[in-house]
Amino acid sequence: MDDSNQIEEIKNRLDIAQVVEKYVPLRQAGKNYSGLCPFHHEKTPSFIVSPDIQRYKCFGCGETGDIFNFVQKIENIDFPEALEKLAKEAGVELKKQNKNPKYSKLEEINYLATKYYYKELKNDATASNYIKQRGFNQESIKQFGLGYAPRYPKLLEYITKNSSKLSNQELIDSGLFVNKEGKIREKFYDRIMFPIRSTKGSVIGFTGRVLPGNDYGPKYMNSPDTQIFHKKDNLFGQYESRQEIRKLDLAILCEGSPEVIFAHQNGIKNIVAPLGTGLTKEQLQNLSKLSKNILFFFNSDTAGQAAVVKAFKLASELNLYPYAATPVPYKDIDEMIQKEPGKMEKLIEQKQEAFSYIFSNFIIDKDLSELSDLTNTKNFVKDLLSHVSDQILHNHYNDKIKQIGKIDLGISVSAIPDSTFSRKNTKGLLVKDNICLLEKTYLQLLIFSKDRSEEIFIPSRYFSSSILGEMYLTIKHSGKTELADIVKLFEADENKKLFMEDIVFRSTEIDEDSNKQLEKLTRRLKKQYLTRQQKALSVKIAIAEESNSSTDMEKLLAKMQHLTKLLKKVTDD
Ligand SMILES: [Zn+2]
Repeated sequence: MDDSNQIEEIKNRLDIAQVVEKYVPLRQAGKNYSGLCPFHHEKTPSFIVSPDIQRYKCFGCGETGDIFNFVQKIENIDFPEALEKLAKEAGVELKKQNKNPKYSKLEEINYLATKYYYKELKNDATASNYIKQRGFNQESIKQFGLGYAPRYPKLLEYITKNSSKLSNQELIDSGLFVNKEGKIREKFYDRIMFPIRSTKGSVIGFTGRVLPGNDYGPKYMNSPDTQIFHKKDNLFGQYESRQEIRKLDLAILCEGSPEVIFAHQNGIKNIVAPLGTGLTKEQLQNLSKLSKNILFFFNSDTAGQAAVVKAFKLASELNLYPYAATPVPYKDIDEMIQKEPGKMEKLIEQKQEAFSYIFSNFIIDKDLSELSDLTNTKNFVKDLLSHVSDQILHNHYNDKIKQIGKIDLGISVSAIPDSTFSRKNTKGLLVKDNICLLEKTYLQLLIFSKDRSEEIFIPSRYFSSSILGEMYLTIKHSGKTELADIVKLFEADENKKLFMEDIVFRSTEIDEDSNKQLEKLTRRLKKQYLTRQQKALSVKIAIAEESNSSTDMEKLLAKMQHLTKLLKKVTDD
């Protein structure tokens, strides 16, 4: 069985409604099911699942796809992982994947290390006491797998005992060992170990914090980059916080791993932190798969505030929605949670747009009636806005400047490329598109009714949309009656495929007596068609009047009379 066969086999065995229902409560709606979209915040359902074509679509945010897309997106996993998961559910045995064996060895070493450090933390009274006194509770130790690398660690021994055939090179490649004058030595000792998990949950590296009295190395030390661990791509807490981030549609970014854990203990579970280095574009990009709303919650010192400006620029370049909050008067989240446990939740609620936050902080000590301050402010804002590629946000920020600064800096927006609009247009095109509704409804009834007798068809000229007209003829001439087959007719044409999906997903209001509905609809379409003709004709008549062409005029008027009669007939029927 090759890959595409396996995919087909899985799709045949699983029903999309059942797969989706594990995450989203669904209600039957006509031929489809509807529910609250799991990918954006909403109060009335616009998320539709079609069992006929085995796809879903949200009319609110535009998300659409099949079971694989759905599971990938909702679990935040990549395609091979979704394949594996769904294959298991479908009872389809996948042929061996050629996963890089070295990668799984590195994962294995990190996994064994997590177990070893976790065990050592329990065994060591000093480390246990330190953890307790720092405020980490038992649940966090378990959930985050906190551990301890002892002063005289025996990780190498533990790994060798529990795993077979690991070369020295593989041990060094894991980042947990170093080569010191030809001898394999452990990298971490006498440190509290925070395992860093990949988005799918396997440990890919560690952050080690020194215990008091250990003077070797920096206070926080991370695993070096390895083949499975790249600091610039990963965030601490990305696995543990993923579901809550999606649920609340908000990701909080703080400065360090311990803060992520303290926040979790405080009931705030949609929080992540970069790994020792500054925030990167890649990290934000990965995070934005879960939510586009990012709240920067950095330390209240100057460095923390500079980081907010940098983060705002990065987020704006990615068309995300950046917010900001600060633990003031406390130094950081850690201190704030200890001294005022309920405060963080309130600050999250009161979060400001990062732009307003940065701008109001900048002008706090400026006098905008002074030329030098004004120039400074203008240059500062210009630089900020140069990173905002979304035109709507750009205008919005300009409004904020007027509101907060009581001043119009007059920064033009014309040079900014409009990327959001074009993106929204390709995805959301059909969402608010109510034109040709009758034509779409007609096609809907046609494809859901297996009746292909002559009376059901209408002249293709009744279609005002040429694309829908073409689709109609294709359906008519194909002779296909099964919805899945009909949908396949348009697979090659992206535009028609989208229209088809739209038609299928909108079929929530079809009742059982579709023939009666069809009859009515045919009449309305005919009427619409005749009205269009009439309009076109009256334009022609007006032109003929201008040019005083009496022969044309006579013909045209006769035609008009005929059209009017036809229209009256349709209306009377
Ligand atoms: Zn949605």
